[in-house]
Amino acid sequence: MKKTFLFRLVLSCLVVLLPASKSIHAQQNAVSKWPKGISYEIFVQSFCDSDGDGKGDIKGMTSKLDYLKDLGVEAVWLMPVNPSPSYHKYDVTDYYGIHPDYGTTDDFKQFVAEAHKRNIKVVIDMVLNHCSSKHPWFIDAAKNENSPYREYFVWTHKDDPQIKAFVTSTNEDSRNRNRWNKVEGSDYLYYSYFGPHMPDLNFDSPKLREEIFKAGRYWLTEMGIDGFRLDAARHIFPEERAKESHAWWVYFLNEMQKVKKEVYLVGEVWASSDIVAPYLKGIPALFNFDLASSIRKAVNEERADSLAIKLKAIEDFYTTINPDFIDATFLTNHDQNRIMSSVDDNMDKARIAAALLFTLPGSPYLYYGEEIGMRGKKPDEFIREPFLWDDAKNDKGRATWVKPRYSSDSTIIPAARQLKDKNSLLNYYKTLIGLRNSSKALSLGELSPIDLGIREICSFRRVREDEEVLVLHNLSKNERSLQLPGELTGYNKVVFGTKSNTVKNNTVLLAPCSTLILKK
Ligand code: CA
Repeated sequence: MKKTFLFRLVLSCLVVLLPASKSIHAQQNAVSKWPKGISYEIFVQSFCDSDGDGKGDIKGMTSKLDYLKDLGVEAVWLMPVNPSPSYHKYDVTDYYGIHPDYGTTDDFKQFVAEAHKRNIKVVIDMVLNHCSSKHPWFIDAAKNENSPYREYFVWTHKDDPQIKAFVTSTNEDSRNRNRWNKVEGSDYLYYSYFGPHMPDLNFDSPKLREEIFKAGRYWLTEMGIDGFRLDAARHIFPEERAKESHAWWVYFLNEMQKVKKEVYLVGEVWASSDIVAPYLKGIPALFNFDLASSIRKAVNEERADSLAIKLKAIEDFYTTINPDFIDATFLTNHDQNRIMSSVDDNMDKARIAAALLFTLPGSPYLYYGEEIGMRGKKPDEFIREPFLWDDAKNDKGRATWVKPRYSSDSTIIPAARQLKDKNSLLNYYKTLIGLRNSSKALSLGELSPIDLGIREICSFRRVREDEEVLVLHNLSKNERSLQLPGELTGYNKVVFGTKSNTVKNNTVLLAPCSTLILKK
C-alpha cells in the first residue's frame, strides 16, 4: 500500500492537468461495418425526455433510435447511466444500477434490444478510475479502518512527512494541488485525482480488480451491451507506473473477452499520441484528441495542408503498436466547447469540419446535437444542453433540467424542421455519413496524403481494393482554382461537391469553404 501512495504522491506533484450539394451517387448498401462505422455520443439527461420530468431518460432514447438509424449511426456511446449524486454521473454509487432519473433495468434492456434490432451497438461509459465518495464501499472504508472495502481505496497517514508538507501547502496551482483528502475523525487521508468527491480506486488490490471484472461481466452478459468507453483510462496508476496502467487494460480486455469475444473497448487517454500509443494493446480503440484539435485549428486558421500528413504519421505509428487499432476520431466531446462554438458559430466552417471528419480515415464519433449545429461553451452544463427535437411548442422530448445559454429556439433550428430542409446542416451530415457508409474507399480506405503546396487546401486519396477517391477540401473564404498534378490526372467524375465545384481538363475549381470528392 505504501508504495502505491508514494507513487501517487509523486504523481500529484508532477502531473499536468490536461484539460470530440450537388448530388451524391451513393449506393444503398452500407459497406462499413462497425466498429469501422459512425458512433454517436449521448448525454442521456439532455437527449430525450419521455415522461415530462425535465430529464432525458432511457425510454426517450429508445424512441429516438429510428432518428439515429436514419442518420446512419452504427453505435451509441452513453455517458454514465449508473446511480450517482451528480448531474453528469461520472461519480458512481452503484456499478450495477440504472440512475432512477433515467429509468429501470428493464427500460435499459428494452433499449439494448431495440438498438440491436436496428443494428445499432450499445457502448456505455465505465468509470473505473474512481467512484463516488457516496459509494457504500467508500462510506464504509472511510469510517472503519478494518472495513473489507478499505483496500479498495488509497490511504496514507497524516504524519507521513511528505504528506504533511502537502496538506499544509497553500499552493493552489492545479498542477500541484493536493490530492490527499482528510476524513473527519481519522488520522488517514485518501487519494483522489479528480477531487474529494471522487476517491480513486486502488488497482493494486486483487479484490478491487475482481470487483471491477464482475461489474464488467454483468453489463456484457446480463444487460447485453457491446462494449465500454473507458473514462480516465490513463489514471489507473500514477504516471510513473504507466506501464502498469497499460498492462491493466490488457488484463481487463482479456477478462472481458472471456465472456464476450467481440467486446469493444474505446478509451479516453487525453494526451499526445506518444503517450496514447502504448494503451492500444489493451484498448484497441482510442480517441484521437490530437486530430480533433488539429481539425479545429485548421478550420479556424484556414490552414489545412499538413492535416492529412499529420494523421498519416499518427496512424503509421499506432500500426506499429497494434495493427488492428481503431482510430476513434471526433470533432469535440462532452468535455470541450461544441464544434459550432469553436468556429464562432460560422456555419460554413462547421460544415467543412464535418466534411473533414467524415472523409478522413477512422471510426468517427459525433457528439449529440452536433448534427443540428448546437452551440455550447464551458462551464460543462452548457456544452451538455438539451437536444432540440422540434419547435418549443411542439417539442415533447425536450429536456428542461438546465436553462440553455447557447442552444435555444432563437439560435438553433430544431431537428424536425432541419429534416424538411434539404440544405440544412442535419441533411448535410446525413449525406456525408451516407456517402461514407456506402463507400469502401471512404470508410475503410488507406489514407494517402497529397501535398499540393497550397496552405488552405487539404487533399488526400482514400484507397480500398478496386475503389479510390480523391478528396479536396478548400478551407479558405476564397474560391480556389488548381491544376491537378500529373499523378492525379483522370479524376474527372464528381462523387460529392457543391454546385460550383467543378473539374475539367484536370483543372479543379473549388468554391469557398467547400469539399470536392472525385473518382476516376
Ligand atoms: Ca424523464
